[in-house]
Amino acid sequence: EYAELSLKDIDQVAKRSFPLCMRHLFEKLREDHHLKHWRSYATGFISQVEVHKSSLGKDVPQFFIMGVGLKLDDALAFWKAEFSRKVGADRFDKEYAYSIRHNYGKEGKRTDYTPYSCQKIISSTPGVGDHHGCPYRHFSLENLRVALAKMGVGGRALEEVIDKTQNRHYQLACTLTFEAVHGASCDAGVNHPNQYYIDSKRIME
Ligand code: SF4
Repeated sequence: EYAELSLKDIDQVAKRSFPLCMRHLFEKLREDHHLKHWRSYATGFISQVEVHKSSLGKDVPQFFIMGVGLKLDDALAFWKAEFSRKVGADRFDKEYAYSIRHNYGKEGKRTDYTPYSCQKIISSTPGVGDHHGCPYRHFSLENLRVALAKMGVGGRALEEVIDKTQNRHYQLACTLTFEAVHGASCDAGVNHPNQYYIDSKRIME
């Protein structure tokens, strides 16, 4: 279902087609070169999200971005480039590469893992220093405004998104953001980050 994505395009595609929750994670990864709940993030990030359920843990409220369509080699290169800056290449090869390969079903037993829906992400409680969660639900209004402005949402559209957010209609706020960014309607609404991504790709390509 997912079109293949090559590594050189990932930043551009993240900017264009990731919903705000995943965009935020992606930016944090690029900034910090590490993510706390990296296994679940890696999972999401890469191909067909197959992961040890146990490695997700109870306190990992989400993960998602599955199937942006990176091939295994590209995914390894992507995570290595980021994580090696924090943990070194040796440690990456020893501790991280296995899990990534595992997520691709190349190692160990395969377990199907369904990425979290908006509802589940919205009802999660990210801790201090965690970057997952739904920005409409978990950001301060001030930070949300800044993030939306960075996505190119301004003027009336921005105020409408803020209005929905204040009324706790987070998925509607996300739907309006989608519509403002794409200049196209999103009649089905946003129920899943992956759906946002797929719909965006459909419009953008
Ligand atoms: Fe992500 Fe869903 Fe929140 Fe949109 S509504 S930011 S897709 S969790």
